[in-house]
Amino acid sequence: MERPASSDLSQALTEWVRRVSRPIEFASRDDCAHVGAVRNLGSFVVAQVLNVLSAHVYPAALESRLMELRELFADFHAGLPAQEQKQRLERARAILGMLKRANMVGSDIEPGIVGKTMNESSARPRGPHELWRLPIRFAKGVGPKRAGALERIGVETVEQALWCLPWRYEDRSRIVPIAQLAPGLTATVCGTVVQAQLKGTRRRGMTVLEVVLQDRTGRIRGVFFNQAYLEQLFVVGAQVMWSGPVNPGRDGGTVLQMDVQQYDVVDDGARASLHVGRIVPVYHETKGWTSRQMRVLIHGLLDEYAANLDEPLPVSVRAKHGFPRIEDAIRSAHFPDKAADVQKLERGLTRAHRRLAFEELFVLQVALAQRQRQVKDEVKGIRFDTTTPMLKRLSAKLPFKLTAAQDRVVREILRDMAAPRPMNRLIQGDVGSGKTVVALHAMAVACGSGYQAALMAPTEILAEQHASSLRPLLEAIGIMPVVLTSGARTSARGKTLADIAEGRAQVVIGTHAIIQKGVKFARLGLAVVDEQHKFGVLQRKTLTEKGYRPDVLVMTATPIPRTLAMTVYGDLDVSIIDALPPGRKPVKTWLFGASERRKAYQLVVDQLKEGRQAYVVFPLVEESEKIDLKAAIQAAERLQREEFAAFRVGLLHGRLASKEKDRTMAEFKAGTIQVLVATTVVEVGVDVPNASVMLVEHAERFGLAQLHQLRGRVGRGEYQSHCVLLTTHDMQARGRPSGPTLFAEGAVPSSRQRLEALVRSSDGFVIAEEDLKIRGPGEFLGVRQWGMPEFRAANLVRDADLLQQARQEAFALVQRDPALSAPMHRVLRDVVMRRWQAKLDLGGVS
Ligand code: ADP
Ligand code: MG
Repeated sequence: MERPASSDLSQALTEWVRRVSRPIEFASRDDCAHVGAVRNLGSFVVAQVLNVLSAHVYPAALESRLMELRELFADFHAGLPAQEQKQRLERARAILGMLKRANMVGSDIEPGIVGKTMNESSARPRGPHELWRLPIRFAKGVGPKRAGALERIGVETVEQALWCLPWRYEDRSRIVPIAQLAPGLTATVCGTVVQAQLKGTRRRGMTVLEVVLQDRTGRIRGVFFNQAYLEQLFVVGAQVMWSGPVNPGRDGGTVLQMDVQQYDVVDDGARASLHVGRIVPVYHETKGWTSRQMRVLIHGLLDEYAANLDEPLPVSVRAKHGFPRIEDAIRSAHFPDKAADVQKLERGLTRAHRRLAFEELFVLQVALAQRQRQVKDEVKGIRFDTTTPMLKRLSAKLPFKLTAAQDRVVREILRDMAAPRPMNRLIQGDVGSGKTVVALHAMAVACGSGYQAALMAPTEILAEQHASSLRPLLEAIGIMPVVLTSGARTSARGKTLADIAEGRAQVVIGTHAIIQKGVKFARLGLAVVDEQHKFGVLQRKTLTEKGYRPDVLVMTATPIPRTLAMTVYGDLDVSIIDALPPGRKPVKTWLFGASERRKAYQLVVDQLKEGRQAYVVFPLVEESEKIDLKAAIQAAERLQREEFAAFRVGLLHGRLASKEKDRTMAEFKAGTIQVLVATTVVEVGVDVPNASVMLVEHAERFGLAQLHQLRGRVGRGEYQSHCVLLTTHDMQARGRPSGPTLFAEGAVPSSRQRLEALVRSSDGFVIAEEDLKIRGPGEFLGVRQWGMPEFRAANLVRDADLLQQARQEAFALVQRDPALSAPMHRVLRDVVMRRWQAKLDLGGVS
């Protein structure tokens, strides 16, 4: 792309000032004697101002002068008192004079106009690699106010602005001669306004603006309803671009009419215009910035700064993948070549887009590779004996044989524990795959080697449950467990803390508060984190900050798609338990609409009559937590009175005192409560094999992965289990055959699609991929909360292949140059540090 010199720009402005001055000077002459002779002076000036403002972004000071000029003429007409006319013309001349002088000085502004901008521009940091800290406020045409609008959408620096890619493109490269138009065509035309008429209509308050546009070949009419302000744009003589579908028009087709969907005023300099005659980028609009203004802003920024963009991709990587340089990629992502494929552009599949996406992924992967090395470089002051007799004892006491998958993962863990480097391993396994017992082997090794182990669950309920299911086994092999929950009485807690600090307590079970609230361990050797996604990514940091350097094992049933796992857990080693213990019957999943409630609850009652138990889950979404909670409580009461009158119903939610929770949970486990009405606190980990029904109310309000978790609460015993998804929408189709999985109108298509995926598959990974596709990574499981990076160009679903490549390249590069100290990696190192040092707790790299 050619880059117009800034002198072109100032020449254009000089030109403009001259053009606007001409009628104003004429009108002012002879003590304003000629005002009456200049027709439409007001609308002319206003149109010219709008014109020049839309053609380029000027410094705020200059812009405010232009706006003042517009104000002066907005209601200028021959009927104004002569004195008023005179004053306004005088002021206009003064402004034009200032504009002219300011413009001569060059791109900066004459100090006389605004001193402040001058200071700012002299403070502007300049240097080859500093766009990342060059505030957008200092860019040309961005005053403090407009900068504020950008900052609100996260654009604070010039670099961020340049990375703010269009979300859409419009092909305005083909201008069709008006004579070639025919009704039914959709086209872009460009011409001069030859006629513009604003009319009122019979209906009060309605205006119709009729504009006729002419090019060398013919004329076309555009009709604009209730957009009187366009009169200022489409003044006679203005060069404009329209695009939209063509129709016969009312007078039988002599002049066709266009249903104008896009319009632009083409600056009459008619050099390569930004807005027409090319594939035009369309940006998300925000308060204070139209797409058009963004286009002008970005164009200006590209001219001035694109050459200074950081190029973190090593030449070799770029060459291997055929990626363009950063400057070229950013330029053509904003202002693509005329020949570019709009479809490809919009899907982010051009070479430029792919390169930008790759860069983001690559930089993250380099950071992760470095972090992994850092952890690996830590020396572990711990020696585990993986041949401890404790392991044999555990096998002897286990009521079942490990599955092949469990056995494989246990061996992977033992290998890590025996190694001289700390373990940092993630165990992924679907709900019910038996992760706990795998972790138990690691704990046995730790305790058998004389260390303590901590097992941390996301909720107190789960901690209690782990404690009650593990205690018998642990005690049977001679390990003393303690539970540390906030509910414990102070005296008991004091004793527990002492047991931990003095090393008598070998396994400590609790929530993550164990680590966060300064509990002192005598010899912490192993930290097991259950259901990792509730904890955030930086668990290890918390541990090391407390001065512990244990081996870390995180477990998650959250079926994280591969691409997501690679970014979120990019620095962990991953083990996957990919098989369920034998004898599990797949859970039957049912989907019922609102009109099928009776049927749904009947299914539950039938199971209860057989001696089974059931969960009924209500959503609890944060924003409306209070209302939801009330709904859940009322529903529990109603269910007890009506549907489940013959059974005992218990209520479990996060607001209950932990003693009460424990009691309810214990009663449910013991079977004295048959129905547990709960908010999603049962989402993870609860294990009651006799429960065979999971009924979820308002299923459409849950994420798929969450529903899959809930479903995982049943089917844990020998009984055929059921998961009943009840939606608020009525999904019943008229005259449809019976069967619960059909849908009809009513349900939002996306929620229908989503829920269907659950009925179709019982594989957590399949479901997670589906969820990711439908909701996108930002929404997926609320990943934002756990520090999931937001990308500007990359898309984890679309760019799965790029992520894979980026990871390979990144890890290979860090292998060769761990500190990125080679001169050719300097920019990369800086970029990695800037983007990820704080977020990933990267140590300083020397
Ligand atoms: P999750 O992976 O969801 O945490 P758990 O560890 O809670 O699963 O195990 C689910 C259930 O499966 C538990 O009741 C556990 O005792 C049982 N289990 C685990 N491994 C096996 C196995 N190899 N054979 C039979 N039952 C098993
Ligand atoms: Mg579990």
